[in-house]
Amino acid sequence: MAAPHLSPAHGEEVDENDHEAVRAGIRESIGDPSVDITIKNVSAWEVNSAVAPRYAHGRVFCVGDAVHQNPPTNGLGLNAAIADSFNLCWKLRLVLDGLAGPGLLDTYEAERQPVGRQTVDRAFRSMLDLMGIPQALGFADGQSAEEQWHLLETLHDETPEAEKRRAALAAATAAIHGQANAHGVELGYRYRTGATVPDHTPEPVQDRDPELYYRATTWPGARLPHAWLENGRRRCSTLDVTGQGRFVLLTGPGGERWHEAAREAALLTGLHVTVRGIGTRGGLRDPYGTWAALREVEASGAVLVRPDGHVAWRAADSGHAGELPQVMATVLATPPHHPGGEPPPTARPAP
Ligand SMILES: Cc1cc2nc3c(=O)[nH]c(=O)nc-3n(C[C@H](O)[C@H](O)[C@H](O)COP(=O)(O)OP(=O)(O)OC[C@H]3O[C@@H](n4cnc5c(N)ncnc54)[C@H](O)[C@@H]3O)c2cc1C
Repeated sequence: MAAPHLSPAHGEEVDENDHEAVRAGIRESIGDPSVDITIKNVSAWEVNSAVAPRYAHGRVFCVGDAVHQNPPTNGLGLNAAIADSFNLCWKLRLVLDGLAGPGLLDTYEAERQPVGRQTVDRAFRSMLDLMGIPQALGFADGQSAEEQWHLLETLHDETPEAEKRRAALAAATAAIHGQANAHGVELGYRYRTGATVPDHTPEPVQDRDPELYYRATTWPGARLPHAWLENGRRRCSTLDVTGQGRFVLLTGPGGERWHEAAREAALLTGLHVTVRGIGTRGGLRDPYGTWAALREVEASGAVLVRPDGHVAWRAADSGHAGELPQVMATVLATPPHHPGGEPPPTARPAP
């Protein structure tokens, strides 16, 4: 894919049907007129920086570029679109199946709109940072390709001017760290309000730049951290044993009470909760103690993971097992259970 940048402010425009002009533009950009170029499709786009204040209205739910548009810097656009869909789909399915209340769908916008805002802001700042590179090199509007090649060829000259440009280039290169390595933006967002139940512990602080660095945590609302485990002789990740349309409860040695709690939760809500033991006899193995170091609860505690891989709730130890049914009812926004009232739909595992 070639993505030549044009400047409409300086009269540069693209005619999507004029493939010869597009070929010429690509050849000029790569500086090699001999390269054979086959054009499959031309699609013009404009840099945008916008996020919708509302993602949903009534029965209409919007995902992707329909609600957030940003420059391609950081490569966040499609990733955010997929994460929107991932967040919405399991909620839609449970509500349509009668296993969750319509209030669960309200959490879609509450959870995803702030992420869209952060995505757009980060991408836009990264684009501005990126523009520092040509500036540092001495590029300016109106220069010919020859002038700009000359600026590149003289960059390493032993002159004060070249030295100044090299220092500016080093500073501009350092500034694009936020474009290339924004792991905190990519993985570290936490849903602070939505389909989660707080465990009343303070949100873990990030002692390094929260946009650049991802801090693994099981705090409710965060993405479940990855840890390598073993399933028999096969290596797998915590991310492999959760998701796939299910609510999964991760527990460890001493967490036997969670099995009964999951059965009670299924009786109350109609939804099956899969319990996975890590480090238990016959369960998944944690040979290097990676999960034990990340789980932030006691071995007998539990981390409840939603179908989209975000933590719905966690409990420090098995003394909280009796809370699971009500936690599931809260996450699913189901009406309070009235003993003797309408039975919930048949409990069944999600596919
Ligand atoms: C140069 C460039 C590089 C990028 N690089 C990355 C990257 O590295 N990583 C990343 O994550 N993202 C990247 N993106 C962003 C990414 O392409 C978009 O965020 C993503 O395509 C959005 O997906 P979407 O499904 O929401 O919208 P779209 O991909 O725009 O899909 C919408 C579809 O709806 C169709 N449509 C529109 N109106 C109608 C209608 N009335 N009826 C029927 N169909 C209709 C359109 O034709 C289109 O096919 C890049 C974008 C650009 C421009």
